[in-house]
Amino acid sequence: MSQQAKPFDVNEMRAEAEEFRHHLARWVDERLAPQAARLDEEGDFGHELFRELGELGYYGAMYPESAGGSGLAYPYTCFTVLCEELARASVSFAASVCMQGSTATHTIFKWGGAALHEAYLGPALRGEKIGAFAITEPNSGSDAASLRTRATACEGGFRLNGSKIFTTNGTVADFITVVATTDPAKGLKGLDLFLVPTDTPGFSVGRKLDKFSVRASDTAELVFDDVFVPHDHHLNDGQASGFLNAYKSLTVDRIFTAALALGNGRAAYDAALAYAKERSQFGQPIGKFQAVQFKLVDMLALLEQSRLYTYHAAELADRGDPITTEAALSKIVAGDGCNQVCQMAMSIFGGYGLMNEFPVQRFLRDAYFPVVGGGTSDIMRLIVARQLGF
Ligand SMILES: Cc1cc2nc3c(=O)[nH]c(=O)nc-3n(C[C@H](O)[C@H](O)[C@H](O)COP(=O)(O)OP(=O)(O)OC[C@H]3O[C@@H](n4cnc5c(N)ncnc54)[C@H](O)[C@@H]3O)c2cc1C
Repeated sequence: MSQQAKPFDVNEMRAEAEEFRHHLARWVDERLAPQAARLDEEGDFGHELFRELGELGYYGAMYPESAGGSGLAYPYTCFTVLCEELARASVSFAASVCMQGSTATHTIFKWGGAALHEAYLGPALRGEKIGAFAITEPNSGSDAASLRTRATACEGGFRLNGSKIFTTNGTVADFITVVATTDPAKGLKGLDLFLVPTDTPGFSVGRKLDKFSVRASDTAELVFDDVFVPHDHHLNDGQASGFLNAYKSLTVDRIFTAALALGNGRAAYDAALAYAKERSQFGQPIGKFQAVQFKLVDMLALLEQSRLYTYHAAELADRGDPITTEAALSKIVAGDGCNQVCQMAMSIFGGYGLMNEFPVQRFLRDAYFPVVGGGTSDIMRLIVARQLGF
């Protein structure tokens, strides 16, 4: 998806990413951060904010201008910045945006024809339509090859039957890229991608799922009852399996999920550092106690490690280098590391950490999403182990 025509220039990459961050950070501070706690408490998707960010053009960060995108020279690094900056205010909101600007739109950008670009991609990048991507099913999570949603060929296209679970943006989506099998005996090779507008007869939302983590991110169970998908909505390059191609885009999403963890970890660290300077016990700020200082230093080390791994993987992606190992490692390091950062932040806040009026409990709850979403940490370990030849 990289739009680079000229050689990679690290200084130019940093300059573009920092300018991108600078403008975005202001919107995050002024618009998203003040509403983050309320969105979480009410389980509110934040439609107004979502539309606003779309109007500002951020959902197009990954795409060339010809597709209605921003035409950035270093799209992966900038999209990583987008995920990190949004997540330091709200991992929920960042997760919705990550789905919109990457997973849900990439398949259409890559394999949809001009008509699908006009009907879905353009409106999604402008924030006018919301997208989702559904692979996980009640009985098929890590083991995608075992999924049961069936696509049966019929006159003019396919009919989909089955159900999906844990679909981000599922109840609010205008269109969903659905992974279904055309031949269960073929396992992963039988999987294909189908674009389903959510007003198609036979599609319904089973239920909106209530969660303890990323509460403001919309998560749904979906039902497909003889849903007709015309041939031009079958996202396939005509040669290889659509899913196996899509899998490459899921690889880069691991970097973005690592960035969600990093942004959230940063927020927890900043809050804990400030609290350690404000809160006094035994006649002095608790930050004067070495035990608290050591926690803060360990948190900083984990954050730096997470940042280095995440942006290294994004840089490789912008260079067009292989990222299978690095993307999985970034998700392990940032996902698990920032979860620990949030646990230490809770500890520094003492009893106040458990109170809903302090955001640190939200940071900890939200720190569980990046270690599961897009594949668990152990599945990431499995991916890296395979790269080691096992
Ligand atoms: C908030 C949220 C949003 C999500 N959004 C989406 C979405 O938009 N679209 C979508 O399709 N999916 C989505 N998911 C699903 C997510 O990708 C899956 O939850 C994840 O892949 C794990 O699958 P599972 O929950 O079925 O767990 P399981 O696969 O049942 O795993 C359970 C445990 O077993 C372990 N395990 C499983 N297999 C192995 C193995 N081979 N080796 C070692 N350990 C193993 C796992 O690591 C885990 O600890 C979302 C999930 C959440 C929680």
